[in-house]
Amino acid sequence: TDLSNSLAAADIAHSLHPYTNARAHEDQGPMIISRGEGIYVWDSNGKQYIEGMAGLWSVAVGFSEPRLKAAALAQMDELPYYHTFTSKAHAPQIRLAEKLVEMSPEALTKVFFTNSGSEANDTVIKMVWYLNNALGRPQKKKFLARNKAYHGVTVASASLTGLPGNHTDFDLPAIPVTHLTTPHYWRFGAQGESEAQFTARLLKEIEDTILAEGPETIAAFIGEPVMGAGGVILPPEGYWEGVAALCKKYDILLVADEVINGFGRLGTTFGCESFGFVPDIMVLSKQISSSYMPLAAILVSDAVYNAIADNSAKIGTFGHGYTGSGHPVACAVGLENLKIIEERDLVGNAARVGAVMQAELARLADHPLVGEVRGTGLIAAVEMVADKAARTPFDAKLKLGAKAAEFCNEQGLIVRAIGDALALCPPLIVTEDEVREIVARMERALDATQAWLAAEGVI
Ligand code: PMP
Repeated sequence: TDLSNSLAAADIAHSLHPYTNARAHEDQGPMIISRGEGIYVWDSNGKQYIEGMAGLWSVAVGFSEPRLKAAALAQMDELPYYHTFTSKAHAPQIRLAEKLVEMSPEALTKVFFTNSGSEANDTVIKMVWYLNNALGRPQKKKFLARNKAYHGVTVASASLTGLPGNHTDFDLPAIPVTHLTTPHYWRFGAQGESEAQFTARLLKEIEDTILAEGPETIAAFIGEPVMGAGGVILPPEGYWEGVAALCKKYDILLVADEVINGFGRLGTTFGCESFGFVPDIMVLSKQISSSYMPLAAILVSDAVYNAIADNSAKIGTFGHGYTGSGHPVACAVGLENLKIIEERDLVGNAARVGAVMQAELARLADHPLVGEVRGTGLIAAVEMVADKAARTPFDAKLKLGAKAAEFCNEQGLIVRAIGDALALCPPLIVTEDEVREIVARMERALDATQAWLAAEGVI
């Protein structure tokens, strides 16, 4: 579509794009994505790209799934919208809730729907506070989170997020939260420290924090099993088992933010399965509907549900919900999407093709620019460093990650730069040949980045 002379193009060029340098954007204009099919998208100039980020960690089934379109249309015909306030419900919402409970760990039995991951984490905060108020311990309010965590951008969910820019520019955190060390052995392991010692140090830090602040003040620990937007960070061996044990010991609720991990990304249905723990609360979004419709869900245990339900019978209802919570069209699309994930064994595909992708990417560890290649299943990151042995980062002013991501675009591959790490998260339908092609394109982009650094006189 030629948008160059249309009003739409002018509007797009001048609208505010999140995480975008507005002045540079005014000069360069946006990259307009106009079409998608399978693992591919096309820009408005007709150039084809492999969507190596599944459009921001989301599109499990690819960009042109006819069954999701059909599910949306059928639901539009039957009941396009209804709210879920004051004891109302509808079939798509009920069916999706049943499916989620069936797929998730046995202990999680009840579902609350929202429209986004940020709203879902906001809701979790309020649920936990409401629950502790109901249990007569209103002082049990604090959250434990981690540096580099991403839990959303609303005032409360951004407070849980542990990325400095999300805080310093907005006077956050606005809720009581303590951020702990990022569980990234390669970056934060001390000289000579083994992985097991690193895990033990992090668990000690958590326990020391709980004891210093008082377990009676700590409500919940929240974490992504594998951190996504912080740079695809896999925890060290034994970390999650240790965190779960500490939560149990000090009566702290464990919240798994599975917004990126959930529905197969790691080659298991949920990230918590990969690491052998069962949370009290699980947060799901993105791949729940392949983001064809905005949708998120919070799954809670009987204990959490009962504390809320008892309170709403005795004191006051849980006064929280969104007009679009459990939207019928979104739920119908979500249910169909989960059926496709099951019928096509996309979780198994993520494990099998993911193993090939990780093996192919491992070769890039020998590239002169690459410090660490990390990942599992169909999520990975390739981090560039100035000095491989010392793991020294490049000068941040170079914005090398963004530069390398541009070279990936030139090669027809969309990735996301997180600092100087290039993140990959292709659709779960990707094939072995396609992941080989993804890695080949990334390798050529790394070579181009190296040539650019040489031309700039940096190396
Ligand atoms: N949690 C995690 C782990 C996420 O990755 C994200 C989004 N990247 C969110 C929460 C927030 O979701 P949303 O963008 O839908 O608000």
